[in-house]
Amino acid sequence: MDWGNFSQWGHRAADWAAEYHRTLRDRPVRPALEPGKVRDAIADSPPEAAESMEEIFRDFEDIIVPGMTHWQHPRFFAYFPANAAPISVVAEYLVSSMAAQCMLWQTSPAATELEGKVLDWLRQGLGLPEGFSGVIQDSASSATLAAVLTMRERALNWQGNKQGLSDAGRLRIYCSAEVHTSIDRAIWVSGIGEENLVRIPVTGPNRGLDIEGLQAAIELDRAEGFIPAGFIASVGGTSAGASDDLEAALAVAKAEGLYTHVDAAWAGSAMICPEFRHYWQGVEMADSVVFNPHKWLGAQFDCSAHFVADPESLVKTLAIQPEYLKTQGADGIINYSEWSIPLGRRFRALKLWFLLRGHGMDGLRTMIRNHVTWAVKVHDAIAAMPAMEIVTAPMLSLFTFRLVPTSMKGDDEAALDALNMRLIEAINNDGRIYLTQTKIDGKFVIRFQTGTWTMEEQDADMAISVIAELADSLLQAEG
Ligand code: PLP
Repeated sequence: MDWGNFSQWGHRAADWAAEYHRTLRDRPVRPALEPGKVRDAIADSPPEAAESMEEIFRDFEDIIVPGMTHWQHPRFFAYFPANAAPISVVAEYLVSSMAAQCMLWQTSPAATELEGKVLDWLRQGLGLPEGFSGVIQDSASSATLAAVLTMRERALNWQGNKQGLSDAGRLRIYCSAEVHTSIDRAIWVSGIGEENLVRIPVTGPNRGLDIEGLQAAIELDRAEGFIPAGFIASVGGTSAGASDDLEAALAVAKAEGLYTHVDAAWAGSAMICPEFRHYWQGVEMADSVVFNPHKWLGAQFDCSAHFVADPESLVKTLAIQPEYLKTQGADGIINYSEWSIPLGRRFRALKLWFLLRGHGMDGLRTMIRNHVTWAVKVHDAIAAMPAMEIVTAPMLSLFTFRLVPTSMKGDDEAALDALNMRLIEAINNDGRIYLTQTKIDGKFVIRFQTGTWTMEEQDADMAISVIAELADSLLQAEG
């Protein structure tokens, strides 16, 4: 294949994509597949002679597609969504066709300038105050790592990159017990070390960290000679939407001179709706905030929006300028590779620009509001089922529940865990919906979240009937 017949195959791919999405609702969300089946269907060595596009495309349809879990399926209620709005898919296609490296302004002037603009559109959409500057990172994990490195460098008077950590004293970073594992990874990779990540227990219905516990931990560490360096807040934790009281927690952290980062990877998208902003009230005090438009908002993966109050600290931490990367004579330009860990950068701003223009903030707000309404509908129906227990109430569109039949009330938790494992297995093997599990206070529970781009109310209704039907069958089968 070459550019001569690209148009033919581009059309074929577009037709395939449209048909795939038209029929997605009729497919199982997750394939019933034996591990190794796809691997066995693929040749063990690369072909010596070129194969025809016809053959390659046929194998894609016959081998690959049946082996995929369908993340864009309207009844994908597992993990968090990874929405790819059709308009963002088109933008990605254009980006792939230009295939520019967007590391410096001069390697991609339009991409750089558009990135600054659309991140400012997003800042306004989220209600973040002026003064926050944005950059697109590949993932929230990278944004958090960049923030943790900034915490480290700032606490070490910007000497850590040069001198290493051997004689640095022990830095401490604080967070709640419910943060995502990307925080652990950032602590490992930064060299700060897991033992120096201080996890404060959570309290209350929002599962936010205990504020007095945070204050006490910082004071104790100082008294013992540690160096408190940073605080990472959670808004919309992965298990059950755990959200810290930002106003109180950031006030403590700032008064203690810590660099602060807010992980709102999933829930951040909902902050385009003013009525949900109470979940991150006080966010304007943060030094760094990340959320993923590639989760709920519809900007195809990958696209992580990272806002910082003082870009200078980030740039002082990450910028490196060998002669071959120096740009001459253009004062005031931004080279976004100095704001992120990888040097090479894709043109990610285009899909955001297309998305925000093609749907408008209002269209995106309607989608988020519908998802929250339908999650509450499913929650209310499950709460009304006599054998079900709601474990955590809806945080936006996420809640958790478990099966606790009357006959098993008072049974040990291990038996209930095993029962709920059997229930989620039955639900996912059935294929009509897809859910995942988590642990809440040591109990095995089932997570339910709504959020896929094409979800409709009928999909919420289907979820209610599948859960009721399969829980009933399980209880009957087990007597
Ligand atoms: N933070 C939270 C709360 C998440 O739920 C996730 C992923 O689901 C992440 C961070 C990591 O996001 P990414 O895959 O963009 O690194």
